[in-house]
Amino acid sequence: MLACSSSDTENQTSIPATTQAATQATTQATTQATAQATAQATAQATTQATTQTTTQATVQATNQATAQATAQATAQATTQATTQATAQATTQTTTQATVQATNQATAQATAQATTQATAQATTQTTTQATVQATNQATAQATAQATTQATTQATTQTTTQATVQATNQATAQPPLSNITILNYTKFSDDSINESLKLQESKLASRKSSIIALLFPVGVLKSEGGFSGSPFNTMEVVLTSTQIDEMLSSVEQWFEKDSCMGKDSEEAYWGRQEALSEYRTWLEGGADVASMRGVCPETRVVLVAAPPEWTLSAFHYTLLHEFYHAFQQDLETEGLCRQRSEMPNKNTVWMVEGAAHYQATWVLKELQGDTSSNYIDEILLEAYNGSQENGPIIYDNATPLAGAAALRLMIQRGLLAEQAVFDASLFHSCDRELVYNSDDADMTFIRNSWHLITKTDGSYKFSSQALQ
Ligand SMILES: [Zn+2]
Repeated sequence: MLACSSSDTENQTSIPATTQAATQATTQATTQATAQATAQATAQATTQATTQTTTQATVQATNQATAQATAQATAQATTQATTQATAQATTQTTTQATVQATNQATAQATAQATTQATAQATTQTTTQATVQATNQATAQATAQATTQATTQATTQTTTQATVQATNQATAQPPLSNITILNYTKFSDDSINESLKLQESKLASRKSSIIALLFPVGVLKSEGGFSGSPFNTMEVVLTSTQIDEMLSSVEQWFEKDSCMGKDSEEAYWGRQEALSEYRTWLEGGADVASMRGVCPETRVVLVAAPPEWTLSAFHYTLLHEFYHAFQQDLETEGLCRQRSEMPNKNTVWMVEGAAHYQATWVLKELQGDTSSNYIDEILLEAYNGSQENGPIIYDNATPLAGAAALRLMIQRGLLAEQAVFDASLFHSCDRELVYNSDDADMTFIRNSWHLITKTDGSYKFSSQALQ
């Protein structure tokens, strides 16, 4: 069937009453329904809107709150973390820097102090200079380094300086502070060789020594020098040589710290000594003597007669120089008082030790390092006692004294080393350690000559050793 819309439109041109009422009812119903629907929709929409709004607001608020909280927390956390990190970093950096700085300062100060101390100690020769170098190096190290660095540098510097000073002392040229005026036929080399060997045996050295070694001729007469036990010999030196020698002594005195003092007393001390030496030189004195002109200033005089062998010359030289090396001969006070007592130890110990050590050194100088020197000491003491009797204070005192020291050694009263290195004569042990009133020392004085000859060698008798 075909649709035909023109006929429907034509039918609407005239509306009946029924239709109108229906239309009204429809309109009413529609209006009501619309109103209801609208009211419902509005309510629903409002509820929805409210719900939506609330939800949105909540979300927004939550978001804002979260954002704020996050921002705050982040800020706080960041601040805390930054502060902590900064603090840690600063602490670490400071500690590291301090350690680095300390290490650098220590290394630098030590290196500088060591270099300076080494350089100075190497170029300077006296103990004073070494002490100065040590002090300077220590002062610099203190200024530049931390306490640790200073301690290390000081320890190192001191140790190095000490080692160097010790090496230098060992390596010092021979015969330091010894001036030799040699007019004898014996060579300077042989004199130096014997004194160098003797000096090497000593525990320590203090004195400044000048030695006048000169020839004399044949014996003219016994004695002749009032107050001095010297014989008169023919004079061999010319007056020019005597003037020359005494002029050298005068110049040496003037440079000496004690004899050369700028005072009336020192001047007259020099003149008196020079005048005495002139008397001996011009008079042909057969002198073998050591003069202690100041506590640490010594003059050795040895006249060499024509018949002397090199051995005889060396022995006398070593004997007199041992006296020059004895450090306590001018000690005053109780030492002086006791050394002036009738039963004093001083004379025989001072002379006996010079003879003992000179005999020992001479043997070694001649290539004999055996104990033959003991046999020789006892032989000479035996001969001396046969000639002069058993008294220890007489012309043979050096020989008797050496035997007495030997007896002390064998009886365990004395260490031989103290005689060899002359340390027995550092602090007046001869009177202050060994009391001459004691039974031990009385026994020694009375028994030194109890020597017997057995199988060609000389020994103390059993009576001396019991
Ligand atoms: Zn002597």
